[in-house]
Amino acid sequence: MHQLQKDSNRQSDETTSVSELKELVSEFVSERNWEKFHTPRNLAVSVTLEAAELLEHFQWAPPGDEAIDSHRHQLISEELSDVMAYLLSLANVLKIDVASSMRAKMQKNRKKYPVEATLGTWKKPTE
Ligand SMILES: [Mg+2]
Repeated sequence: MHQLQKDSNRQSDETTSVSELKELVSEFVSERNWEKFHTPRNLAVSVTLEAAELLEHFQWAPPGDEAIDSHRHQLISEELSDVMAYLLSLANVLKIDVASSMRAKMQKNRKKYPVEATLGTWKKPTE
């Protein structure tokens, strides 16, 4: 059993590293001998399928109905975790360092969407 599963005091975002989550997913895959199924293509497809399952929780919601009760919150949390698990497995397979990739991409986004051109608006700045 993974260390994160054994130690319930270490299960929050504040105390868990991305590396530990990647290891958690890797162990789950390895224990089942599923590495052969976890190809980049299959994982990218799975990310999208799980993202669609996440979206289902917002399907048919009346406009303006943003209320999320505790049951719905739990279901959304589970789908978010499914998406994250496949993303982390994809990062494992492609040897992507999530933290450095994320920081680099956010820096790129900062240049693409400068505050002075995007503050309070959803419109993309003209190039
Ligand atoms: Mg799911």
